[in-house]
Amino acid sequence: MEFKNSTFIKLLIVQCLSVFGLAQNFDFFYFVQQWPGSYCDTQRNCCYPTTGKPDTDFGIHGLWPNYNDGSYPSNCDPNSPFKQSTVSDLISNLQKSWPTLACPSGNGLSFWSHEWVKHGTCSEAVLDQHGYFKSALKLKAQIDLLQILLGAGINPDGGSYSISSIQNAVRNAIGSTPGIECNVDASGNSQLYQVYICIDTSGSSIIECPIMPNSDRCDSAIVFPAF
Ligand code: 5GP
Ligand code: 5GP
Repeated sequence: MEFKNSTFIKLLIVQCLSVFGLAQNFDFFYFVQQWPGSYCDTQRNCCYPTTGKPDTDFGIHGLWPNYNDGSYPSNCDPNSPFKQSTVSDLISNLQKSWPTLACPSGNGLSFWSHEWVKHGTCSEAVLDQHGYFKSALKLKAQIDLLQILLGAGINPDGGSYSISSIQNAVRNAIGSTPGIECNVDASGNSQLYQVYICIDTSGSSIIECPIMPNSDRCDSAIVFPAF
């Protein structure tokens, strides 16, 4: 009887911990947007989606749960596959704001599915599948990165800009310093590839980044290529 009771209590504790863990098993989100010009002008090239060339604008890459130490959870729920039917009302907005540029050309479903399975399942206790995509689309609408940069004289014209000028422009507009990730174009120039903005665990408010993503591939001045 005593044995049974203690086993029961242990089970109860494990259950409670997993519920608490699930309730907030990450510290913040990175909201990551990619510049299509920089995805496409590398040696690897890109393929436009089946719906046509995306807008000349930043596109969503993902909304990524992260830990304050820089590590992150991934693939958290094998029992939660991406289901198109849960986001059917969002598809046209996803096509516009979250276009896929990988080859071969696709309609976006495999990109969104990858992001849900790898990242979205790790914030499932906060945002269900519809909520996850809706939150990312809302953040995209709220944070008009291209307009912010244009307003600061930072244009996608092949010119070079310092990382700090890009970070300052965004900080002045949204009150938080973004992380910058670079990649390398086909001629070997370091260029603006992705912008990381930190978001609270509810997926709605911009916060100061607890830790910046790696920007090792950025030179002190980076190219902002056309698209
Ligand atoms: P890469 O190695 O190209 O920088 O990143 C590959 C993939 O790893 C990203 O697309 C993303 O799914 C994941 N990843 C890379 N860095 C981070 C990070 O700092 N936080 C999170 N949550 N995911 C990351
Ligand atoms: P992550 O880097 O988020 O782990 O994975 C990105 C995955 O999504 C890769 O397998 C990549 O081929 C696919 N993918 C599809 N479209 C895109 C796109 O437009 N940008 C990026 N970065 N990855 C894409």
